[in-house]
Order: sequence, then structure tokens, then C-alpha cells
Amino acid sequence: MAKTKQFKTESKKLLNLMINSIYTHKEIFLRELISNASDAIDRRHYLSLTDEQVSSADNYEILITQDTASRTIAIKDNGIGMTEEELIKNLGTIAQSGSQAFLEKLEKKDVDIIGQFGVGFYSAFMVASKVEITTRSPLSETGYHWVSTGESNYQIDTTDQETIGTTITLHLREDNQEDEENYSEYLEEHTIKNLVKKYSDYVRYPIKMNITKQKDDKEEVTLETLNSMTPIWKKAKSELKDEDLNTFYKRQYNDFEDPLKVIHTNVEGMLTYTALLFIPTSPPQDFYTDQFEKGLQLYSKSVFIMDKNKELLPDHFRFVRGLVDSADLSLNISREMLQHDRQLKKIAAHLEKKIKSELEKMLERDRDTYIKFYKAYGKNLKYGIYDNFGMKKDLLKDLIMFTTNKSEEYITLKEYIERKSDEQKAIYYASGSSRHQILNQPQMDAVKEKDYEVLLFTDEIDEFMVQVLGSYEDTPFKSLKQSESDLLDESKKEDLKTKEKDHKKLLKAIKKALGDKVKDVKLSGRLKDSPVCLVSGEGLSLEMEKILKQMPNQTDIKADRILEINPNHDIFAALSNIHETTPKKIDDYATLLYRQALLIEGYELDDPIDFSNQMIKLMVEASKLK
Ligand code: ADP
Ligand code: MG
Repeated sequence: MAKTKQFKTESKKLLNLMINSIYTHKEIFLRELISNASDAIDRRHYLSLTDEQVSSADNYEILITQDTASRTIAIKDNGIGMTEEELIKNLGTIAQSGSQAFLEKLEKKDVDIIGQFGVGFYSAFMVASKVEITTRSPLSETGYHWVSTGESNYQIDTTDQETIGTTITLHLREDNQEDEENYSEYLEEHTIKNLVKKYSDYVRYPIKMNITKQKDDKEEVTLETLNSMTPIWKKAKSELKDEDLNTFYKRQYNDFEDPLKVIHTNVEGMLTYTALLFIPTSPPQDFYTDQFEKGLQLYSKSVFIMDKNKELLPDHFRFVRGLVDSADLSLNISREMLQHDRQLKKIAAHLEKKIKSELEKMLERDRDTYIKFYKAYGKNLKYGIYDNFGMKKDLLKDLIMFTTNKSEEYITLKEYIERKSDEQKAIYYASGSSRHQILNQPQMDAVKEKDYEVLLFTDEIDEFMVQVLGSYEDTPFKSLKQSESDLLDESKKEDLKTKEKDHKKLLKAIKKALGDKVKDVKLSGRLKDSPVCLVSGEGLSLEMEKILKQMPNQTDIKADRILEINPNHDIFAALSNIHETTPKKIDDYATLLYRQALLIEGYELDDPIDFSNQMIKLMVEASKLK
């Protein structure tokens, strides 16, 4: 007795869209069904190596048959088949993330995008008014028959099918004069032949079809293999056009854009493998989240072993997509063993070097592309330096770049060192929320005079990374927001010392007023036009404190704050004056000054109302003086 079941809501939406499709590339249904057949064969083959219940087939193949009388086209495979549960789960609901994402796009009416997604099995309903499936899994007692018109439900029944595999039969729709749809063309041999060539040429299993041939006035039918089956990565590089690789990439990895970079490498010797790697032009949306899964596809002698093998890619190059095919890997090993495979580790080490050298080459020869790359993935490289206490810093330090106060163009650390004067002993950096914000920071005053170049740090990871780097080719990194001593020449230092002595009492009074809020109050030699600034002592910087505070369980972390006052600014004369005439008022002035410094640094005040009251009071007093 056939059971009737309802499609899940999202599936209904997708089906409805397929049925009423306004989409012109209906032909992709064939690619989708063939790709499912090929996946199913992969799975059967893989399981046959590890699961006693699953036998392999003598010859894996996909067979296409057409029947003009019944207007049907069938795609038959000897893959893994489906159990009843699998039929319900795999075809009654949308599980695959690509389809979900597809629906979301559609809801935003982004219809053009339709062809870019693997819309999979349901695309059959673009050309068929009814779809039938007969299938038998080695893990199931019986075969099943599934049928649906794609409206709201489907029926499942048992069959006595013995052979393992799946046949999908499409009952083609009637041709439609109005929208000029000609579904009958899918009953023609040459149409199918061309579609297989166009979309499924690299499928690893033979896609066969009966082809009618004229021979001496007689018609003869021969079973032919339509696809070349040679995986693209096995072809000689000279035979491959960029176009081929780009098309392969987009199809294989569901991207809309051509890759930014293709790395195709053949290694022979102690270790033999082919790698075809791609750097996507844009990182996937989840790239900088925990959801992102890195990894390369793994093949052995062109037979698929697994998707996203993590061991092949270090985290700092996790943006790379692609595959590795190695005859050295035994197919008879389980996934767990694969993780400890020595060959695999060696390949991974090779790939890491290869990717690095390709990136270096790009930086040298095609800087514009490198900068595009860096804008997309630079943050990930910086994390790579920071990770594992800087284990990979030497590998990555020449790949990172920064913009500076002198140019909006990215430069490398090496270039920074090359163009700085010998007199300058450190690599200076300043952190902030944006280029504009940093350039306006009071601490920039000092380097303006010196004409030093300063790296602008706007990523959260930057300062943490620099802590791990420590120096670049023996030149230490120095924050502009820490000690100023090596920015000042000797005479200026002397001058400051004298001034600090002269105003010792005032500085003490300010420090007293501020209490624990600051570690020290000093006169500043670096400020030119700005009245005050806030800097930190050695160790944790103010920026790092801000970032750490956002993390859970890190609330106690504090950077040492030092308030620096510009002795050449009018405010300093005013403070001295107040201190001498009405010392009681110094408390108010000190907190006001400190709050200004906080605001300049981009902090939110704990007590904005109190601050506002102070300002108002001051304004009223000032008006009375007139
Ligand atoms: P996807 O292939 O991206 O997972 P599809 O909509 O194309 O999405 O297919 C849904 C699921 O149905 C597949 O993941 C697979 O589990 C199952 N399936 C489809 N076709 C076959 C087939 N020929 N043999 C076995 N399982 C299949
Ligand atoms: Mg599919």
C-alpha cells in the first residue's frame, strides 16, 4: 500500500518555484541529476571499503535512456540507493545548506542568482510534470518507488527491485507555445549528448546512452560513453585554459565569481600528488566565524575519498579551496586513520610552502591582485601570526601589509624598513577605530614633526599580533601610545625634566584628584597643538584592554593609564594659575581634563551627566568673568 506524505514547507516553496519557473536555463536539471548519481556512486564505493554490508559494483556507471512514446527520460545509477528513511529525509525536506541559502536569496527576489546554486533534485520539476524514483539501498530489506507531481505531496511504495542503485524517471511536460518552451528537445539524443559534454564532462563515471547511427543506409544503435571522464586536474597544464579552470571551480565549489588565484601543482618523486587549489575572490560570509569549515577535497587516483579534509590546510591558509589527488593514499583506510597518515602530513607541509610561495610571487609580480587578496584575507594571516604563540610568524611576516599615515597604499614591513631613515630605531604603530580617527589622535603630533611613518592599526588583532612578532628583522615595534622617550631628542627631554620639577606640586595635585584612575600624570613632549592625551605604560595597551574587555570573564583586565599634559598649551598655564589662586578648584579641572582625554581616545564616559554638569558650571563661571 502506497503511503502519501507531505513535503516540508521550505521544500514546497522551492518546488513551487521550480514548477512555475521563469528561469531559462532549465537544462541544468540534467547536470543536477547526474551529479547526484555520481555522488551516490562515490558513496557506495567508499562504504564498500569499510562496511561489510555494502558491496561494490563491478562497473560503476550512469545510464541515460529516453522514450519518445511515453515522453520520459531516465537517469539510472548503480550507486548507494536510498532507504525509505533516506527518501523521506533527502527528498522531502531541504537539508542541504546551499538550497537553504538559495531560498533566502529568492525571498529577496534575487532571481538571477537561480542558476548559481546547486538546486539539486527539485530542478527535475522544471521540466517534468511527474517524477518517479525506484531505488534500492544495500542497507534496506526492499526496494522503494517514490512518485510525485511536485505539488504538495509524494507517495512511497515498496518494490521487489534487487539491484542496488537508483533510477529517476522524468515525465516531461507538454511543449508550451506560449512561453516557447520545448520540452521535447530533451528526448533528442544530440541534446542530451551536448548537455552532458557541457555540464558533466568531468564526472568520473561513464555516462552512457544508446546512440543511433546511420551505417550503410541502416540505423544502428550503439551504447556510447558521453563524457571524457578525465578529471580536469589530470590534464596537462598546457591543455587547460583559464576559462576551464574557472568554470570547474565555480561549479565544484558553488561560487558565483571566478577565483582570484588558481594554483595547479603536480609533484612527483618520494611523494606523488596533484593539487588544484583556488583562492576565492571573496571570502564566504561565514569565513570569520566558528561556522566556517576549512579543508580540501581528497581523491585517490581520481576516486573521491572525502570532502573538506582539515589536515591538509593550516588555519592561516584556511581560505584556500580545492582538492588533492594522490595515488600514495590508500583507499582502504578509514577517516580516522587518515588523520594520522604520514603521507597526508607531508603533502600538507608541501602545500603550505607552495601556497606561501605563490602568494609571495603574487605580491612581487601582481601587486594589485595581492592587495585584493589581502583586503579579503589579511586579517586571517594576522591571526595566523598570533596563533600558537607565534609559531608561524616567520612564514607569514612578509605577507602582511598596512596602510600608514603617509600613504593609503598598503606596504609590507620590509618596505617600511627600507624606506625609514637610519635615525629611526623602531617601527611605529598607532591603533584606532579608523584611519581618520588615528590621524587625528594627539599622539600623532610628535611624528608629524619627525616625519616618521606610522603603521595604522585598525583590526582588533593588530596589536596582539605585534606583541607576538616583537620585532621585524631586529627592529622593534613601538606603539605611539606608549612611552614617548625615544621620540624626543635630548634637549627636549632635559627641558621637560626641568618643567616637571618646576610644576611638581601641580602634577601631584592632579594625580591626587584622579586617584586610581591613572597611574601617573606627566608633562608631554610629544604634543604640539593638542592639550592632553592618554597613553599606557609598557605591556597591555589601551586598545588591547578595550578588546579584551569585550570577551567573557575578562573584566578585571586593565592597562596602566598615564595622563600627559601639553606644557606649551594655554590649558597648562590656566591649570597653574588655578592651582595658585584657587587650589580647591583643581579637582574639578583635573577630572574634566581626564574625561576629555578619555573622549579623545574614543571611550564612553561612565558618568556623562556629571561631565555635562561640570562643563555647564565652567561655562557659567566663564560668562561671569566677562
Ligand atoms: P544535494 O545533492 O546538494 O545534497 P539534492 O537535492 O541534489 O541535494 O539531493 C538531495 C539528496 O537526495 C542527496 O544529498 C542524496 O542524499 C539524495 N539523492 C539524490 N539523488 C540520489 C541518487 N541518485 N542516489 C542516492 N541518493 C540520492
Ligand atoms: Mg545534488
